[in-house]
Amino acid sequence: MTKPPHDADARRSVEPVICYPTDSLPQPDMDLYHAARESMQQIDQVIVPPREAQTFQVPAGHFFRITSIEGPQVGDLNLWSATDLNERFYSGKTRALHGTHLTTGDRMWSCFPHLRPMATITHDTLDWYGIDAFGSSVHDVIGTRCDPYTNNLLSDRQYHHCCHSNLTRAIAHHIGLPLTEAETHVHDVLNVFMCTGFTRDTGQYFMKASPVRSGDYLEFFAEIDLIGALSACPGGDCSAEHSSDTSPCYPLEITVFQSKGNVLNSWRPPVKNNYDKSHGSE
Ligand SMILES: [Zn+2]
Repeated sequence: MTKPPHDADARRSVEPVICYPTDSLPQPDMDLYHAARESMQQIDQVIVPPREAQTFQVPAGHFFRITSIEGPQVGDLNLWSATDLNERFYSGKTRALHGTHLTTGDRMWSCFPHLRPMATITHDTLDWYGIDAFGSSVHDVIGTRCDPYTNNLLSDRQYHHCCHSNLTRAIAHHIGLPLTEAETHVHDVLNVFMCTGFTRDTGQYFMKASPVRSGDYLEFFAEIDLIGALSACPGGDCSAEHSSDTSPCYPLEITVFQSKGNVLNSWRPPVKNNYDKSHGSE
């Protein structure tokens, strides 16, 4: 190990600054969304079986809700633009903008070169949880998704119902693509209901039993036309292990709602990012 320099303590004691202060981030009009929620009616429902994934579609200006319905269950969520699968959820930039875990008022941002809100969280029944004594919270954008490759690397096993595989099968079926091609569209997720953090001493990613209970939900406003895929993680409440069939596992419900009033009449989907894409070339 390198010997610390004489000013090591001084260097460590420098105060941090927030990378992306949110004052200049365009803010969602939560009053408008809350007004629109008041007249919303359910127009679609999809049940995601345990250790499987299902796709769903939400038109821009509609709401969708993910509900834990039979027992504590974590869900892995992917989002794409319904008109261009190359515009998809960007977990890393969402984390940089909103922090490690999302709740009401936070948004799911799309990848470059689009970088616009895909969905805004409008209700979170677990918003009371906050950050616990272990530094963990719910709905993370720090994990990726459980996958058969990491599982094979660590255990030398073949397991086919990790969220990565579930999402791959679901989107392959939805768009009629072979699995190998569909797999390239699967991306890092929003871990809905998952309770996670990093250990303070070693900085390792950890999970603990989700505080979610039947009836809890996370609700979104679709900013653009969306295709979603949700996997009911084989880890169940993720209290012990994932990537196996040992944990109790429950279905998840996706419901889509349409606002019936006229409060969204003048609302428009956000435009794509305004950067000119010249990257300094003439
Ligand atoms: Zn999973």
